[in-house]
Amino acid sequence: MKVFKFGGASVKDSEAVINIKEIIKREDSNLVIIISAMHKTTNSLEKVWDSYINNDLKGAIHELDKTIDFHKEIYTKLRLSSNLVFLNYFNSLEKSLKAFLHQPPSDNYAYNYDQIVSYGELFSTWIVSNYLEENEVINEWLDARKLISTSSHFQEARVNWEISREKIRVKTNSNSSIFISQGFIGGDANKNTTTLGREGSDYSAAIFAWAIDAEELTIWKDVPGLLNADPKVFKDTHKIDHISYKEAIELSYYGASVIHPKTIKPLQNKSIPLTIKSFINFQK
Ligand code: ASP
Repeated sequence: MKVFKFGGASVKDSEAVINIKEIIKREDSNLVIIISAMHKTTNSLEKVWDSYINNDLKGAIHELDKTIDFHKEIYTKLRLSSNLVFLNYFNSLEKSLKAFLHQPPSDNYAYNYDQIVSYGELFSTWIVSNYLEENEVINEWLDARKLISTSSHFQEARVNWEISREKIRVKTNSNSSIFISQGFIGGDANKNTTTLGREGSDYSAAIFAWAIDAEELTIWKDVPGLLNADPKVFKDTHKIDHISYKEAIELSYYGASVIHPKTIKPLQNKSIPLTIKSFINFQK
């Protein structure tokens, strides 16, 4: 089984979601697919959180409605609007987040953050999973809050490796050959949602890969592969074809922001190869 990870840019609009389908259709192995929130959704939900903790309910709802509309536009373009099962669950996500916002904020701001910002990944994976299903890519949507078991250190939860492995293995042992789940989010022992830190979806993908002893992890990005530095900052970047786990850890800590630094260790522990591929030129 392989693990694929798609980040926010690879689910930024309806064309990007269609692109994911094309990539997946070319694969013949069983897949676990980890997906981030769409485009800038996490930033928008951070604004919702900010208004909420400052007791600005109107501002929070206004910002959330903009985020919801952004997703609605995508799922309308993908022609999911007539699928009742899809709509019911999507609307129930919106309702439960709004119900949360109508409660007074807890003093624990990090707790509030995780309960709100985690919805980005729930929205995106629900859309992708249903779009694939409607287009003959049968898959099973898995709730990462029930699989990645973490501490209650909100906003930077620590993974309980053994429990997560058990849960992930049981769930991915079904007859399905394609599973879709969320990056970035997990759940603590009290069933509260937790998050693993900004840009944490790569790390989630590595946790899944580690748990199922994946054949490999592929991170699909808008760069051609692993670069020696951040192309948004430096002009003269070059692609690195092969690299040791140790060098990859060093690079990710020293600014080549292609992969989240915590991603490598779990892969190294089980010698799982990591490939970075471009979702723009995926035919290559
Ligand atoms: N959506 C989260 C973020 O933007 C996690 C991720 O994309 O890796 O930080």
